[in-house]
Formats: sequence, structure tokens, C-alpha cells
Amino acid sequence: MTDLTNRAEQTRTKWKEVLDNFHEERSEPTSDLYWSEKDTWSRSRIREVQDTKLKALTPFLYENSAFYRRRFDKLGLAPTDIKTVDELISKWPVVTKQEMMDDAIAHPPYGTYTTCGEDEWNDRGWMLFSSSGSTGVPRVFRYTHYDRKYWEQANARALYSGGLRKGDSALPMVGFGPHVFAWGVQYTLAAMGLPVIPGGGIDSKARASFIERFKPTVLVCTPSYAMYLARVMQEMGDDPAKTSVRWLVTGGEPFSGVEGTLERMQDLWGANIIEFYGCTEASPHCGGYSCPEYQTGDENFIHLMEDIQIWETVDDNTMLPVREGERGLTVCTNLNSESSAQLRFLVGDYTRLSTEPCGCGRNHIKGMGCITGRSDDLINLRGIKFFPVQIEEAVRSVAGTGDEFQINLQTLPSGLDVMKVQVEHLDAQVADVIANEIRSRCEVRCEVEVLAPNTLPKTEMKAKRVFDERKKG
Ligand SMILES: [Zn+2]
Repeated sequence: MTDLTNRAEQTRTKWKEVLDNFHEERSEPTSDLYWSEKDTWSRSRIREVQDTKLKALTPFLYENSAFYRRRFDKLGLAPTDIKTVDELISKWPVVTKQEMMDDAIAHPPYGTYTTCGEDEWNDRGWMLFSSSGSTGVPRVFRYTHYDRKYWEQANARALYSGGLRKGDSALPMVGFGPHVFAWGVQYTLAAMGLPVIPGGGIDSKARASFIERFKPTVLVCTPSYAMYLARVMQEMGDDPAKTSVRWLVTGGEPFSGVEGTLERMQDLWGANIIEFYGCTEASPHCGGYSCPEYQTGDENFIHLMEDIQIWETVDDNTMLPVREGERGLTVCTNLNSESSAQLRFLVGDYTRLSTEPCGCGRNHIKGMGCITGRSDDLINLRGIKFFPVQIEEAVRSVAGTGDEFQINLQTLPSGLDVMKVQVEHLDAQVADVIANEIRSRCEVRCEVEVLAPNTLPKTEMKAKRVFDERKKG
């Protein structure tokens, strides 16, 4: 065995020993309120655990990922230079998606930013997932069965926090493509001992009929699909709010921080809607999740599970940390995987972090206002910057607008870039009202076209709202 292989194996063994020390293989919750007591750890205990994990993680990454080794060498750092969260944040610049894409192009098809190589994949490989970003080269991530066990326990803590209990049964309504959200929930339901009614590969009417006949209490889907299915059921003469459904577990799109959208879905379903937030890069598990208190304050929030991930926010220009309470982009260090334990990966969603204690008893940090848009989705129109969710809030603020809307960006023959927002409403006069709402929220003028209800294509999975046909450059 060469020295290099030896060091790679030694550091992997050490990293997994540390992970194992903190792992619980639960099939039952620890109490009525918490799946694991880790949820109630003090903030100093959480930090102590983060530092302990980090100390074993950096040598592991250095010896097992060419991407990380190059980065350490380029920065003139040894792995032992980063043993604590403070050292990590002060010494290690954020890792961007572009860096990963460049690496994936140079080293196809997997890149070198993960630590699941051929040996691990052949020995205990579980699943391959792909980044779902709307821009750039897709990046793939191979995870092992070792990761799966950690994934199940973290997600069980999140689902239990959301309110799922024995007696619940779930109907997942997803395509089961290479995206982490639904698979993570699927395996976790099994680990929690909750029954599942498979709902993939059938159309919406069949799913509506499944709900009527088999009476699941939990639906697993994207927010867009939950809204779509509710409308399908209404057209069939059913009232979604009168079904057996008590919980909607949603992921894949931001929504609970989008003013108007959550309320609309709660009205439709008469159910508790809980959210999973995370990314393919720093799985296996959701990072953000709902608790029973998430709607009780001035603004909605999600918790971020900090003993398994370090969450921070950075300035969108300088990429330097912002103070607690200031709006910034999310950055995640994953302390819970043998396959993709990233250091300061720029997830890139806007939120404001708060360490204020939560009424639910969890001390894990909160993302206030939830997640309100990924920096990749930012629209820059004639130098004015805003997010599609801000347009969504303006549309939702007007009573009677349809669920669907589109944002069309075009370049006029004169060279001027313009935006037209298409909405559905019975009254064409609402165009001015919505245009004013958009102007007051985004400081941008635009045309609003009012179409008859049910004109725009219905979203079945992830909503595509923005159609950018501007001439570039
Ligand atoms: Zn809470």
C-alpha cells in the first residue's frame, strides 16, 4: 500500500469514527416533542460538536479529494490550520458552484469535489443525485449506504419536528428523478416506521382518487404541485380541505417565506404545510425544516440543523460573513457525510439568521423570513435587481388572481429591455393594481397583461415562471 493510499484510508477511518460517536440509530423518538435530544442541545454544545467534527474533517478532505487538496495548497494552508469553526470562517473562502462546475468539466463525469470514489461506490454505493440548478453544467454526487443512515436520522428529526407521528401515512407524489428531496423523505418514512402509498408515475386524477380511497395523512410534493393538485380536485368536485390530508411535506422550491403563497395553500388544503430546505451538494438530508412555532411570530422561519451542518450567511458582493440578523447568502459546511462533506459551500439563498431561542425548545439557528430566492435567480432589468418571488408576492396580494403567472423579459427593437408579467383574473382592470404592487415592491415599471382564468399552462412539478428572451451583451 502506498503512503498516499494509507493516509487516505487512515483519515477516512478517523472521520467515520468521529461521525459514529455522534450517531444514533433510532426507530423511535426520544420524547413526545423530539426525535433526538440533539434538537435541544445548547448553542455552546452545538459549537463544541462542530469543532470536534471539523478537526477530523479537514485532513479527510485533504487526503481524499483532489479538489480540496488543490484548494488547501493554493491557499498555503495545511488541514491542521482549520480545526475550529472560527478558523474555518476566517481562513477558508467560500466554495462556489462555478468552481465545482469547472472541476466537473476538467474531471468528468464526477469531478473531484466529492469523497466517494470507485472503491466506496463499488463497496457500499447507494445513490447518485444530480444538482437541480437552473444554470450551468449539472454536477453529480454519489452517496453511500453509510450516508443513508445519517440521512434518515437527520430527516426523521425534521419530520418529527414538523409534526409527523405514528398513525400517519404518506403519499409521495413526485417523479423520483435524481433529486435528493423525495428520496430522502421516502427512506426516512421507512426508518420511522410510517407506511407509504407509492404515488409516482400516475396522473393527477389518479392521485386525487388515491387520496379519496386510501386516505393518506401526509402528501410529499413540491409546493407548485400541491397547488395544482388542489385545483384538479376542485374541478373533479372534491374539496381538498375535507380530505384525510393533515400534513404537506414540501421541498424543491421556496414558498413559506413568499407572502400570500403559504396562506393560499393552507386555505386550499386546510393542512399543516412544512418545508424541507437543502441542497444536493451538502446532503444527505435536509438542512432546513419547520417546527411547530414557525408561523407564530412576525415572520415565518425555518430551523437549520447545526450539529450536522455549519450554516452562515455572507454578503452577496464581498462573500464575507454578515452579522446576525443581516440579509445574506446561505453558506453550508456539511459535517455529516463520508461522500460529500463540503467546506463552506455557497448554497446561495437569501435569508437572515437568528440565534434567538425558539418556543419549540430547539436551539438550532433560524432562517428568518425563510428562504426567499436563490442568487442565481436574481433578475437584473436595466440595472434594477429583484427576485421572481417579489413578483409572486405582488401577484398574490391581489384577490382573485390565478395560481399561475409568468414573467417575460424581452428586448425591444430600440434595444430597451422590458418586462411583461402575465396573470390570470376575471377583471382586466386589475392590471394597474398589480403593476403598482410590483413597482412598490421591486421599484421597477412593467406591463401587466391580464388573461382569462386557466389560460396559462399549469405547473405540475417545479414552476417555471421566468422566460428571459433578452438579447445578451
Ligand atoms: Zn422552533
